[in-house]
Amino acid sequence: MVEKVSKNMVVSVHYTGTLPGTGEVFDSSEGREPLSFIFGHGQMIPGFEEELMGASKGEKREFTLPPEKAYGNREEEAMLKIPRSQFAQLEQTAELKIGIQLVAQMPHGPAPFTIVELDDESITADFNHALAGETLTFNVEVVEVRSASEEEMLHGHVHPALGQQNNAKSDSSCTKDGCC
Ligand code: ZN
Repeated sequence: MVEKVSKNMVVSVHYTGTLPGTGEVFDSSEGREPLSFIFGHGQMIPGFEEELMGASKGEKREFTLPPEKAYGNREEEAMLKIPRSQFAQLEQTAELKIGIQLVAQMPHGPAPFTIVELDDESITADFNHALAGETLTFNVEVVEVRSASEEEMLHGHVHPALGQQNNAKSDSSCTKDGCC
């Protein structure tokens, strides 16, 4: 039986994402290990999963996603004015400039932002995802489809396949004894 991409399958893909307007590549798995994820658990942007549904190993798909199916639209509420004094410590070692990315430590975890405005009193931080508001084109090749193991379902993430375990060890967050 040929396994097809569906909920609770571990799907491994090679992909290249481009901006259709300019053809600029914003992300690609080329030269890296394929990207593996458990399908149907919101680990990927919504349109990415919708478009891959039902694909089988070796299949290639190309699709273009509007912002609502990708990283969402840009939101004005995600622009925050922050007093510059809060950056005093940082400014001792780094120069604040428009366009640089920083990470704020928020109660729910790290939140990256870009400085979009800057004066003596305040900094305007844009917390929108860098790709918010963008239409994105993906070229995807499905390199593996298999059922998730019970353990993977329990952990909510993909474990390295048998035989790849040694290669994956160095960058894996899972260890034999103390897997998250
Ligand atoms: Zn695990």
